[in-house]
Amino acid sequence: MKEAIYPGSFDPITFGHIDIIKRAARIVDRLVVCVLTNPQKKPLFSREERVNMIDGVLRENGLTNVVIDTNEGLLVDYAKDRGINTIIRGLRAVTDFEYELQIAQVNRRQMPEFETVFLLTSLEYSYLSSSLVKEFAYYKGDLTKFVPASIIPQIEAKYK
Ligand code: ADP
Repeated sequence: MKEAIYPGSFDPITFGHIDIIKRAARIVDRLVVCVLTNPQKKPLFSREERVNMIDGVLRENGLTNVVIDTNEGLLVDYAKDRGINTIIRGLRAVTDFEYELQIAQVNRRQMPEFETVFLLTSLEYSYLSSSLVKEFAYYKGDLTKFVPASIIPQIEAKYK
């Protein structure tokens, strides 16, 4: 069975992430969306809130071969423990590339069999990020083009 991990902050999940999840789920038999705790980032949503939002999105989209998990440690250790050696990451623009390349190389130094597979963003989401969603929400902007309607109330509630 081919398995892969799609790690990220998902703070919150956007249509860009969902697009990558759907496409990755067609490539592998089982995809683990792994919600990470990134010490460099102060998340708006708690880990549980992010997991719940993703869970709702997976159900809405009938993505039955996708599961959610969380991890606080190193991704390579998580992957090793589970015997999964494929990581999926999304690339939006060259600006993502340098950072992603660095992580992928560091991960491979620690686990040689580790492969990072990059999926290019669909053009319509190439501008979309969780930070942009938060910025729009802060200014009470319309979020319908960025995230599923079902999670908009949760995002708006943070800026009441
Ligand atoms: P991280 O903090 O790990 O960068 P994110 O939640 O911001 O977590 O992103 C998780 C992954 O999803 C990253 O590989 C990122 O490049 C990718 N991603 C985010 N937004 C998009 C998008 N609009 N299109 C394609 N990939 C995306």
